[in-house]
Amino acid sequence: MRVIESISEMQQAAESWRREGTRIGLVPTMGYLHEGHLALAKKARELADIVVVSIFVNPTQFGPGEDFERYPQDMERDIGLLTEMGVDITFAPRASEMYTPDYQTYVEVRQLTQPLCGASRPGHFIGVTSVVAKLFNIVKPHVSVFGEKDFQQLVTIQRMVDDLNMDVEVVGHPIVREPDGLAMSSRNTYLNKQERQTALRLNRSLQQAEQQVAAGERRVEAILESVRNCLEEGGGLRIDYAELRNPVTLGEVSRVEGPTLLAMAAYVGKARLIDNCLLIPPGSP
Ligand code: AMP
Repeated sequence: MRVIESISEMQQAAESWRREGTRIGLVPTMGYLHEGHLALAKKARELADIVVVSIFVNPTQFGPGEDFERYPQDMERDIGLLTEMGVDITFAPRASEMYTPDYQTYVEVRQLTQPLCGASRPGHFIGVTSVVAKLFNIVKPHVSVFGEKDFQQLVTIQRMVDDLNMDVEVVGHPIVREPDGLAMSSRNTYLNKQERQTALRLNRSLQQAEQQVAAGERRVEAILESVRNCLEEGGGLRIDYAELRNPVTLGEVSRVEGPTLLAMAAYVGKARLIDNCLLIPPGSP
């Protein structure tokens, strides 16, 4: 596996693959890789001839007081995992080259980024869409794989690609979970043993909501009340948001009549964790 740090070297390599008709697949990550990231790389391997995994802890998507400075990193281990997996390129640019002192261009997707994580992390999605746009210009992928774990991010990037006519296919990948149901995340490393147990309530509350919907519940408030109770019971967790939304527009829903996104974010110890699922009422289209 080749590690590329320079933007121009990455662009030249991408250009020559494109000229040969080689399909390029990109998986953007912030590193400290886990099975979730590796599943995305595996999917990219199915869809492309050359798989590029980018590792870049993007400063512009972190707000003041967030965990940018302490975001976990282990480049050596990441490179080992990606080599083992048969990934072709790790692209790990330096922040100083990605953001030169006179940097001043940002991409904004307006409506989809207003609710949910956008409401509690102002500016976060502008950082995400801008860096992904940059990565697309540098790696020139034909296809790029994103996790449904960051559901709002996935639909936002899909929107950006459509709106700006970017010639990239965006592919979503289901959430990869630990055996006990916790959604894999680099931030799980912030959890101590007790917090790790508390964090299981996120997935448990999703499962409970799925059961409620399967049993015929359609009322938004009734579902959200059970979700909140499940999350808060036992303490040690602070809900940032728990909401039901239309999975395409991320608009509010009045009842769960078709496929509906249940999305949540919660603080457990030092970690802000997110999780989601699609609630699909039986017999819905
Ligand atoms: P991150 O390194 O956290 O920015 O994530 C990089 C990519 O991996 C994003 O597309 C995430 O949605 C995806 N990802 C992270 N965790 C998971 C997971 N548990 N399952 C599926 N995809 C994930």
